[in-house]
Amino acid sequence: MSITSINPATGETLKTYEPLTKEQTMDKVAAAQKAFADWQETTFDHRKSILLTFAKALRERTDECAKLITVEMGKRIAEARKEILFCAEITEFYANGAEEFLANQPMDTDDAEAYIQYAPIGVLMGVMPWNFPFYQVVRYAMPNIMAGNTVLVKHAGNVPQCAEKIQNLFDESGLPEGVFTNLLIPTEFVETIIEDDRIQGVSLTGSERAGAAVAAAAGKNLKRSVLELGGNDPFIVLEDADLDAVVEMAVKGRMVNTGQSCVAAKRFIVVESLADDFLSAFKSKLADMKLGDPIDEDTEVGPLSTESAADNLDKQVQSAINAGATVVLGGDRPDCKGAFFNPTILTDVTPDMPTYDQELFGPVATVYVVKDEAAAIKLANDSSYGLGGSVYTKDIERGRKVAEQIDTGMMFINQPTQSQADLPFGGTKNSGYGRELSHLGILEFVNKKLIHTG
Ligand code: NDP
Repeated sequence: MSITSINPATGETLKTYEPLTKEQTMDKVAAAQKAFADWQETTFDHRKSILLTFAKALRERTDECAKLITVEMGKRIAEARKEILFCAEITEFYANGAEEFLANQPMDTDDAEAYIQYAPIGVLMGVMPWNFPFYQVVRYAMPNIMAGNTVLVKHAGNVPQCAEKIQNLFDESGLPEGVFTNLLIPTEFVETIIEDDRIQGVSLTGSERAGAAVAAAAGKNLKRSVLELGGNDPFIVLEDADLDAVVEMAVKGRMVNTGQSCVAAKRFIVVESLADDFLSAFKSKLADMKLGDPIDEDTEVGPLSTESAADNLDKQVQSAINAGATVVLGGDRPDCKGAFFNPTILTDVTPDMPTYDQELFGPVATVYVVKDEAAAIKLANDSSYGLGGSVYTKDIERGRKVAEQIDTGMMFINQPTQSQADLPFGGTKNSGYGRELSHLGILEFVNKKLIHTG
């Protein structure tokens, strides 16, 4: 079946691609293995100069790349530009830092001299999602290419143009053939690739369903894996928080990428003394946001990535409403063309509703009112997810103590969870395992080899 690029704001088919056959796919796996033999021997300076050329291209061609993101998956154009510039930053971070991150590490041992060498392991498989179509690929590819591995990527089926553009940028930057390979393939090929002896590890960002399938294939074949799955991030508002600042952060945290971010703030847990004021200010801000074509600079809420994403979100919201949730704002799709969903606030979502523990991947906030800090912590931890979260208080020390009690991979005080090149990113519980970005991200797929000099 062909792979189609569709503009979710208009429904227009933009481009259609024929996927690779199994044979063509395995030829590309072979090319990646062949490329590894030479690439692992190259110097950090050589790899760095190619990646800096790539970063420069992103900076010079930001608009061209951003427009592709916008038309293909519906991100607002200003956010798409930010994504491209962030990719340039991540690329520069690893290009400049890899040699230091991977320098031999002396070990403190009593009777001998010993050190750890960080050696590349070979060909890696990446399965990437559409929500940040450049960033997700860059976050996985750059540390691994700098470490001397070669990388394959199966991108999400709805962003083939972005995937193709990334490949072109690598080729134009002088990266040898086989070091980075975009595989335009159906999902069913992924397991066969993971099973192949030439593949040494797999990294997936996406849903729990896809993560479980990929991790099962990796486990069965004794391959290492990194999983970055969904999140249901708590946004905890304590009674001493600055309400105006909190509301601004709540809008930013929930509406990033039209709510389609794994670390978007999703569950707003507010201590009762501030709850009414928070809810009314939050509602008024979301109600004022302008829905429209994401290519227009003044649009504030774009479409979801696909028609089926909007339908799925609708089903989750209607299921909560039918089970007794209260609609404070929105709750449905607007009456217009495109994969839009109205900004929505739900209250009275209870643990017996399936929606309570599901990720709502769109502009839908659930607000919970709690008695005090202890109740906020308990509710925040009552989730099968554990990706990010944030806590709002004027007392930073108090914020730190609360943050330390939340069972997630990342906690932020007075701002929603964010991704930064030099800070680790990843979760716990059903949000996955392993870390990306920072110096930790480059250590996932290297052999941490002990050398003992006697
Ligand atoms: P998926 O998890 O289905 O897609 C992510 C990637 O995994 C895509 O490349 C997809 O390919 C691939 N994939 C899907 N199933 C398998 C499988 N069985 N084996 C191997 N690869 C697979 O996400 P959706 O787009 O369907 O979104 C569903 C939900 O997942 C969202 O509502 C959200 O909750 C969560 N999600 C989380 C993301 C995050 O950033 N953590 C990103 C995207 C989604 P293909 O596109 O060809 O199906």
